Amino acid sequence: MIFRQLFEKNSGTYTYLIADEVSKEALLIDPVLEETDLYIRLINELGLILKVAMDTHTHADHITALGKLRELTQCKTLMGRESGSSCASAYFADNEHIAIGSISVEALHTPGHTDDSYSFIIKDLGQTYLFSGDTLLIRGTGRTDFQNGDAKEQYNSLFELLLKLPETTWVYPGHDYKGWTISTIGEEKRHNPRLQVNSVSEYQTIMANLNLPNPKLMDIAVPANRACGAV
Ligand code: FE
Repeated sequence: MIFRQLFEKNSGTYTYLIADEVSKEALLIDPVLEETDLYIRLINELGLILKVAMDTHTHADHITALGKLRELTQCKTLMGRESGSSCASAYFADNEHIAIGSISVEALHTPGHTDDSYSFIIKDLGQTYLFSGDTLLIRGTGRTDFQNGDAKEQYNSLFELLLKLPETTWVYPGHDYKGWTISTIGEEKRHNPRLQVNSVSEYQTIMANLNLPNPKLMDIAVPANRACGAV
């Protein structure tokens, strides 16, 4: 499996390029509009064919490159079926598998940050990769105070689904603002301060008291992302 972690610094977004070495089919997870040229360059340099570009959820902090990538490469664009997007090529649902050559990507509905938040799982050479979007961040979790976010649902997504994965699972989040690039489920279980709670209500109290400002781009990004990134 070919794998690259890419970073967009204004929004602290991680984008992942995954490809099958044999068929050269490639997938982009959470591409950012401003970085489109870089993705195209890398895909060309590695001799890949972009098959699918998809988002873990409707982003509020940056504009998606899904529409632009489809225009340039004829790839399919996928979003969760809860996304409210009017123009994706197709929509994934809980437990659906997306094939990229011989690689199988499992979509897990993990609502809480938004109601359309998904995580993706890939198994390769005995290793499990979790692309956790903004559901599980490194030493944090995505805020739950807008876009139909819900701390109780997020608690369930975390404790009933993601934290039940093997402790050695690599965690690749949707963002990191501190420069952490990767973690594992075991490491997050032990050291993520938001996960050191004993009940749903304790988690809800933490999430209700974050007092974060709205993302600068929110009023532009959310409607644009429902329209495949058309500004
Ligand atoms: Fe987000």
